[in-house]
Amino acid sequence: ESVVNRIAAGEVIQRPVSAVKELVENSLDADSSSISVVVKDGGLKLIQVSDDGHGIRRDDLPILCERHTTSKLTKYEDLFSLSSMGFRGEALASMTYVAHVTVTTITKGQIHGYRVSYRDGVMENEPKACAAVKGTQIMVENLFYNMTARRKTLQNSADDYGKIVDLLSRMAIHHNNVSFSCRKHGAVKADVHSAVSPSRLDSIRSVYGVSVAKNLMKVEVSSCDPSGCTFDMEGFISNSNYVAKKTILVLFINDRLVECSALKRAIEIVYAATLPKASKPFVYMSIILPREHVDINIHPTKKEVSLLNQEIIIEMIQSEVEVKLRNAND
Ligand code: ADP
Ligand code: MG
Repeated sequence: ESVVNRIAAGEVIQRPVSAVKELVENSLDADSSSISVVVKDGGLKLIQVSDDGHGIRRDDLPILCERHTTSKLTKYEDLFSLSSMGFRGEALASMTYVAHVTVTTITKGQIHGYRVSYRDGVMENEPKACAAVKGTQIMVENLFYNMTARRKTLQNSADDYGKIVDLLSRMAIHHNNVSFSCRKHGAVKADVHSAVSPSRLDSIRSVYGVSVAKNLMKVEVSSCDPSGCTFDMEGFISNSNYVAKKTILVLFINDRLVECSALKRAIEIVYAATLPKASKPFVYMSIILPREHVDINIHPTKKEVSLLNQEIIIEMIQSEVEVKLRNAND
């Protein structure tokens, strides 16, 4: 049974960055306004996520890492129906099958917090009272310690750390009302350091720098079509002065960081046609649409989504981007 659990867990948590994404999404779900991440050895030795959210109640700790423990939902179909981003309560449980997980947490109004470690879905000990300030800190140590082959394929810690920095940079743009930091264990300097920003453009400036932010134009599409295609998109796209080697598309759908390769390709096509010299754009888009129009058609942990009316939505975005680029060119 434990082998089966471990293999299933290895599917949910594919690399260190997948663990970080799940932990940070939990922190966002907990209404945190500050989230900091510390990483050692590309995440294989240590991933530590600390937040100032609402914390976890003492009574919930025994079942915290059981599979399908979730305070929020039960149905897979409901994935996008909630303002929160969790699904199926599998993330923390999975981590305990492939790593050593320690939780320190305090809820509002308590004078002390609790600390408890988990292994294979269960608590290793009764929660111990401890000092704590506010919120939750989760430490994931020795990731994939029991999956030798996986560990071997993840030997390039710089690569995995880069993926984590990239993830947090993207999240920091969208959640401009939350401050994020990410650093290597023992490092003084943070590699992601975003304060709470008054706007998305400010957060883009603070994360990606002035040189990116100054070359961005706002785009918006709003479609209300009762026969089916209803969505709102707002975002920023780079102009002809922004020249880069590869396209960056930071895409949030219903406040969830996802990937949509069809949209990415469609945007690249417009740029290639209108701004051939700047054909690898920087694009941030946030799309909001009715929850039942979003489908994660493959595994729930995969970030690739497909949308109902996807072709129409992509075409509308494409033509809006094209108008913006042409106007800017004139
Ligand atoms: P899900 O997010 O789908 O509910 P998880 O396994 O990611 O499943 O988390 C299980 C539960 O643990 C969450 O529903 C939440 O109640 C609690 N939890 C996890 N992390 C935090 C956190 N940082 N702050 C508060 N509660 C948390
Ligand atoms: Mg979660």
